[in-house]
Amino acid sequence: MFKAIVIDKEGDSQVVGYHEIGDAQLPEGDVLVDVAYSTLNYKDGLAITGSAPIVRQYPLTPGVDFSGVVAESAHPDFKAGDRVVLNGWGVGEKHSGGLAERARVKGDWLVHLPEGLSLREAMVIGTAGYTAMLCVLALEKHGITPDAGEVVVTGAAGGVGSVALALLSAKGYEIAAVTGRDGEADYLKTLGATSIVPREELEGKVRPLAKERWAGGIDVVGSTILANVLAATKYNGCVAACGLAAGMDLPSSVAPFILRGVTLAGIDSVMCPKPERMAAWARLATDLDLSKLQNMAVEIAFDEVLEAAPKLLAGQVRGRVVIPINPSL
Ligand code: NDP
Repeated sequence: MFKAIVIDKEGDSQVVGYHEIGDAQLPEGDVLVDVAYSTLNYKDGLAITGSAPIVRQYPLTPGVDFSGVVAESAHPDFKAGDRVVLNGWGVGEKHSGGLAERARVKGDWLVHLPEGLSLREAMVIGTAGYTAMLCVLALEKHGITPDAGEVVVTGAAGGVGSVALALLSAKGYEIAAVTGRDGEADYLKTLGATSIVPREELEGKVRPLAKERWAGGIDVVGSTILANVLAATKYNGCVAACGLAAGMDLPSSVAPFILRGVTLAGIDSVMCPKPERMAAWARLATDLDLSKLQNMAVEIAFDEVLEAAPKLLAGQVRGRVVIPINPSL
């Protein structure tokens, strides 16, 4: 038996708690993994609190990512003892996930832990960091190099934003960090922000076009802020959009696209094909300054996850929340 967070339904309401379960209660899959570390992502916060319909199958263990060691495998690419990382593929949404001491998943979903990263570091990065890497790759693909000018990162003190700052700064970009938290300016500068933009500055009325300000951007919040970022993106710039922390809507116009040739690059980490995710993890292992990772990690005990989830959604948690589940692995 092992410990797992389980979300279930009682009538119309969702109930969540810690349970002792066995391998037989895990979903189907060809690889059984002993989980070393998991994390608390925005999506996990939504699933645990039931604030958005993330959970699509009950009962379910949340946790969209984990790192761990293979216990048993019937998949040709993995054997017992391999160190692996999982992000997405519906895990923690419709297939039980990483907030448990064990997980059973499809081997096709797993990535070998890249050389140079520990199981803990892989989860300080987590799905947020891997998504930040996908965003940086999208900017590079669209020719937004450091000499193109300053880029902007919204939701900068959150998980995706923090890793995005560290990655961009390692490549020499000038970065404007948008935050709603005045007190985090020093933290953001340590990660690589070269200027701080108060969130309110981008929450005002959206004009079709504003003064050209940024060569590109990484947006995790959506809504009015993304619309204002698009309006202020320079000619032929690119904004990688991955999140909705401020809302699903996008009160924009076609002006940035048809008058300034701006590209809006959509980023999805969940169903991202395996070659791209392997490329992203390989770049994370080489590009990230691992000393910065320590600064952005908040470690909480497995027993504290349920109380931390609403705080994460309320924007009260800085950086990445790492959960040691079996750190001695
Ligand atoms: P966090 O909660 O760690 O960070 C989100 C940040 O957004 C906050 O720290 C805050 O930054 C800012 N923020 C929060 N609420 C608002 C608001 N109402 N208006 C403006 N800014 C706000 O989340 P993550 O970094 O883990 O995830 C960010 C987003 O990316 C989420 O929407 C998540 O669902 C999405 N995501 C998408 C993925 C994909 O595959 N597309 C994968 C991973 C995440 P600050 O305090 O600096 O203002």
